[in-house]
Amino acid sequence: MSSNNSPVSNQPQSPIWAPYTQMKDAPPPEMIERGEGIWLYRKDGSRIMDAIASWWVNLHGHARPEIAEAIYQQALKLEQVISAGYSHEPAQELARKVLAKSPAHLTKFFYSDNGSTAVEVGMKMAFQYWKNKNVQGRHRFLGLKGGYHGDTLGAMSVGDRSLFNDVFGELLFDADLIEAPYHYWGFENIEEQEAQSLAAVKKHLEDQGDEYAGFVLEPLIQGAAGMKMYRCEFLSALTTLVQSYNIPVIYDEVMTGFGRTGSWFASIKAGTKPDIVCISKGITGGTMPLAATLCTDEIYNAFLGDEDHLALYHGHSYTANPLGCAAGLASLEIMEKESEANFGKLEEWHREELGKLVGHPRLHQLRVTGTIAAMEYKKVKGAKYNDRDEIIKAFLDEGIMLRPLGPSIYILPPYCIKREEISLIYQTISKVLDQ
Ligand code: PMP
Repeated sequence: MSSNNSPVSNQPQSPIWAPYTQMKDAPPPEMIERGEGIWLYRKDGSRIMDAIASWWVNLHGHARPEIAEAIYQQALKLEQVISAGYSHEPAQELARKVLAKSPAHLTKFFYSDNGSTAVEVGMKMAFQYWKNKNVQGRHRFLGLKGGYHGDTLGAMSVGDRSLFNDVFGELLFDADLIEAPYHYWGFENIEEQEAQSLAAVKKHLEDQGDEYAGFVLEPLIQGAAGMKMYRCEFLSALTTLVQSYNIPVIYDEVMTGFGRTGSWFASIKAGTKPDIVCISKGITGGTMPLAATLCTDEIYNAFLGDEDHLALYHGHSYTANPLGCAAGLASLEIMEKESEANFGKLEEWHREELGKLVGHPRLHQLRVTGTIAAMEYKKVKGAKYNDRDEIIKAFLDEGIMLRPLGPSIYILPPYCIKREEISLIYQTISKVLDQ
């Protein structure tokens, strides 16, 4: 392309092909130079409030010196070592400590390096569990409509079909997705809707229960669907029902993990016992790519035996990377010392602020679970901002990173956010939508 055709920008042309982005008319990206607390800073010193924890990964604020120091010290000692036949203390310690924070019935910890893969591993564990037990024909999965589990082929197969994955439809395997009974303030008849969903699950289990390898779901909150929430009562009844057919239940806690629902894990909040749990995003406090799939002895023991083919043949070059594990340990320390105490406060602040928006002409379906709040906005004739991209830009012009998912505006901040900063987010939402 001749320089005459280049977009007007003082930045050099970028070779980067960005995710989820139509590059044809994409504006140049915001260039961020540094972060501190809930703030991201451009080179010119102007700042943006990170109200969505940078794709839901950041727990304690950006560029925490304690985590940076832990990574640095680890890099001086051991930056990487293969994970088959070798291990290292940070990997062992992190696995032990995260398991100690998880429901007690989970005993084994399989490392990988991103959320999609953690789910992929969970599904492979469930699938091979049956093969190893010599049970054939278990090739289908159950899931919830609206679910999102990542962008790899298996994870897409159990997620809802959308713009994200429609084009790959022919490559995906079959899954049966059940309507999730979403709940928000003022919604009545929730028990009825939950009963309908449970009845639909029961029908699938009765009709073809012996074809299912597992049930994959995002517990309590479906993130990419737009922070859609459902009740602990439903999660508990669903888990019990599926497990009564001896089908493994796989919780994708990639987003809900590490405090987002107000407990360390959604399974703890709901008092449920999933067979397999997938975690990633918050595991390093949002600093290094790392993930894990946790499971019970029952699952793990099915992979033990004298024949090689019983083993789980899955692994990655960077499995249990020492820098990631060191970051994870430092993050856990901050959680225990500081962030954990903010789960409840944050929920209270959301409730107070959301309460002020009840009856707002453009906002409805207000909802909170733990540290996450969400609402739907309505398009209104004559309003200055109706289009999603315009709304994102208007928030950004006010200095706040908020990125609605379809019509869902959600707030998912780092745990170090202050009361007045939460107020500012809500005031900005009102200000933009009131215009
Ligand atoms: N599961 C859930 C619930 C997620 O929210 C995401 C990411 N948004 C993933 C899986 C995929 O994680 P990753 O982007 O790290 O592959």
